[in-house]
Amino acid sequence: METEKYDVIIIGAGPSGLTSAIYCGRAGLSTLVLEKGFCGGQIYLSSLVENYPGVKSTDGATLIATMVSQAKSFGAQILENSPVTEVDLEGKTVKTEKADYSADSIIISTGNRWRKLGVPGESELVGRGVSYCATCDGPFFKGKEVAVIGGGDSAIEEAMYLTKFASRVYVIHRRDKLRAEKYVQEQAFANEKLEFLWDTQVKEIAGSGKVEKLSLENSKTNETTGLEVSGVFIYIGMLPNTEMFKGALETDERGYIKTNERMQASIKGVYAAGDVRSSPVKQITTATSDGTVAAVSAVQQSQGLL
Ligand code: NAP
Repeated sequence: METEKYDVIIIGAGPSGLTSAIYCGRAGLSTLVLEKGFCGGQIYLSSLVENYPGVKSTDGATLIATMVSQAKSFGAQILENSPVTEVDLEGKTVKTEKADYSADSIIISTGNRWRKLGVPGESELVGRGVSYCATCDGPFFKGKEVAVIGGGDSAIEEAMYLTKFASRVYVIHRRDKLRAEKYVQEQAFANEKLEFLWDTQVKEIAGSGKVEKLSLENSKTNETTGLEVSGVFIYIGMLPNTEMFKGALETDERGYIKTNERMQASIKGVYAAGDVRSSPVKQITTATSDGTVAAVSAVQQSQGLL
């Protein structure tokens, strides 16, 4: 197979990857974006985005569609459904099933994914009441009772979204305090359709062919109870999509890629940006910021300035 040569290859087309594509394309670098599925990353599924400056209120899909057309308008080539099968970061070569590519620099923006609860019934009942996407599946639960697991921003925001459809939404959290932002908490506590089950762990998701019941345990009293629900939405945090780079780059203890302030990873010419990077805050704004810095670094590297 012939190797196609680019100035920069960006792996992953979420907000950070697409921002890098906009900057690299606009700076005149030949830019290839390889996306394993479709463009957008996590934010694509977000029903409401109201903290992206300059855009008062939108949804993830609309925001991403604009970023994609912006990147294309500056000449970036974006290939969807093109999972990377092999990567040599030192040699700057990347393979997909369809072609081999090489570049002077590689920007990794593969993001992260939902963590699984790991209890019996979870994997068996995915798509049959177990969901990781309220935006996709919420409308199936009109007038029904559902549970959301977790106490972070995702869990609470998505629980509030689900109250548009469900008659009752139980928020099941393992501690007695939420991790979500205070403003989000205040909105949630004022929502009469939300009911909080504190200090509670899900032990099993049960049902024949579809979710019917959760087995719960109170972590303070060890008391076990059952909760009848038709759906369970799991929002217990994220894991980095770094498997294909395993061992090749320095990462933090959670597996997120370490970079310097120029987004340079531990191999020269390799940059990491967005949610895959070791960083304390993971927002669309921080992803686009990372994507900007990584792209400017790649441009300066191409000019011999870095
Ligand atoms: P997160 O902040 O890491 O919260 C994960 C939640 O799940 C925590 O409440 C945690 O409990 C709980 N949890 C973790 N493992 C668990 C387990 N095995 N069993 C039961 N519960 C478990 O994750 P996130 O909510 O997905 O948010 C990720 C990042 O994105 C955060 O920085 C967040 O601020 C950001 N975010 C921002 C927005 C926004 O600004 N609009 C929206 C969504 C997310 P503990 O609290 O006990 O650890």
